[in-house]
Amino acid sequence: MSDTHPYETYLWSPERKKYEVAEIPEDIDCVFCAQAKGDERVTKLSVFEDDFLMVILNIFPYNTGHLMVVPKKHVNSLTELEDEERDRLFAMVQKVEELQRKVRDPAGINVGINLGEAAGESIPHLHVQLVPIYEKDRGFMETALDTKVMKETLEDTQEGYIEKKDVLEDYWT
Ligand SMILES: [Zn+2]
Repeated sequence: MSDTHPYETYLWSPERKKYEVAEIPEDIDCVFCAQAKGDERVTKLSVFEDDFLMVILNIFPYNTGHLMVVPKKHVNSLTELEDEERDRLFAMVQKVEELQRKVRDPAGINVGINLGEAAGESIPHLHVQLVPIYEKDRGFMETALDTKVMKETLEDTQEGYIEKKDVLEDYWT
């Protein structure tokens, strides 16, 4: 799966906020590092954050509820993680699965990592994507017109997750 714009067009209903598609300033080398540092010029819709990682919404979601688990350290390969960092990252991936099952009740979840541009990576900073899949996901718009119909705003999705984020809090002790 590719990182951004999996569909040609998005149809937001209700309307999507304009800031979400703002251009990234040129002096920002890595969007995830900028988000990790709290650079406010980059949109961040966060569900959970600590000193090691962040759980954020993908603002170009494949589907409603698409989350990413991103270590704050700039690495671009699983091999660059220390053993403990790897374990901690995947402990969170497991908790995010639990969160998505609780909040979204999906029929399934795609969990994926794209390593390298050839593999569909668009931000060269390690991240794990979790995309909920629902029954009857792909209607006419998606199949014939390559247009994803989004039935809720990213902010509403974020709020739904934040309400239950206690699921994530003890992921690493
Ligand atoms: Zn980075």
